[in-house]
Amino acid sequence: MRFFSSLYPLAFIMVSGVIALFYVSHTTLTSWFRRDVCFSQPSITFVELPSEMHMSERVQYKQPSVLHGRSDVASVTPWLAPIVWKDTYDPVVFDHIYKNRNLTIATTVFAVGKYILFMHDFLETAEKYFMVGFNVHYYIFTDNPKAVPEVKFSPGRVKTIIEVPGSKRWQEISSRRMEMIQKTIEEHIKDEADYIFCLDVDTKFYDYWGPESLGTLVACLHPGYYEQQRESFPYERRSASTAYIPNNEGDYYYGGAVIGGLVGEVHKVAKTCRENLELDASKSIEAAWQEESHLNRYFLYNKPTKVLSPEYLWQDFKAKTKEIRTIRFSQVIKNYAEVRPNQ
Ligand code: UDP
Ligand code: MN
Repeated sequence: MRFFSSLYPLAFIMVSGVIALFYVSHTTLTSWFRRDVCFSQPSITFVELPSEMHMSERVQYKQPSVLHGRSDVASVTPWLAPIVWKDTYDPVVFDHIYKNRNLTIATTVFAVGKYILFMHDFLETAEKYFMVGFNVHYYIFTDNPKAVPEVKFSPGRVKTIIEVPGSKRWQEISSRRMEMIQKTIEEHIKDEADYIFCLDVDTKFYDYWGPESLGTLVACLHPGYYEQQRESFPYERRSASTAYIPNNEGDYYYGGAVIGGLVGEVHKVAKTCRENLELDASKSIEAAWQEESHLNRYFLYNKPTKVLSPEYLWQDFKAKTKEIRTIRFSQVIKNYAEVRPNQ
């Protein structure tokens, strides 16, 4: 017995050693693992509220109907992603799900050359309508940091200004957004935000754009083509381009002015489009609508998990159609000859 009890300290040391070894290797492995997959954050896509939260924060809202919904528009894609239209969802439910999760939404916006003129209204209206009550981190890319207007932000909302070079071609300014978004996600945004929206600056918000828009990979229907047949979509039609889509393929025509989703997913979009833009450029090909063409090709093979209706991307010059019950975000009318460096 005495012999065995003299082994106790030894056994204790051995057991502690094994535990310590396991802990160290586990944390090292976990950190390696995290480094490898730092762009996929699947946990954020699931709504995992602890049940006590439901109990302590009961919320009243209209009973959802199984039988009745909007019948004038499709509110789901053939791959069962929601198409978000007013009155297909309950904002009270969305707020309840997302508001307590301390999410940060990164928002990239470019204003190169004369486009800085659009920044004031973009920011001012975003403060009024865009992701109200959420942390929003605007990343403003401009060749003229001093000209970024001072707009009063609500608590939890901040901006970072990133200086970028100007260019003589608007096509290049628009396309280079992909490269800069990719780089900025890698250097900053991946540690600073959960979701991201990449938006055009020549725009204004007119109504609420909230957490109903959040999803793993979010695309937005272009307001000019949602009523048309796929053959008339302005996809890139030359097979030599990496953005090529033949006449008998394509789901929708998505607008390049709105891309969203989890930071890691949008990183994949930006990286792929950037690589394909460069591949094309090495063969002296520029797709019909530059990065928008590449984006459409990407979304054809990587289906968005949520599709925003044209309520989220309208055009001021366009009269409201009957299915548009509200306009949340719209491209303002611009004098192309005045604002673009080459036209
Ligand atoms: N852009 C810019 N300066 C330019 C041209 C484009 O900053 O000279 C940026 C800006 O964010 C703009 C986006 O690229 O919203 C897309 O370009 P544009 O709005 O001209 O394309 P459109 O919406 O007319 O197709
Ligand atoms: Mn635009």
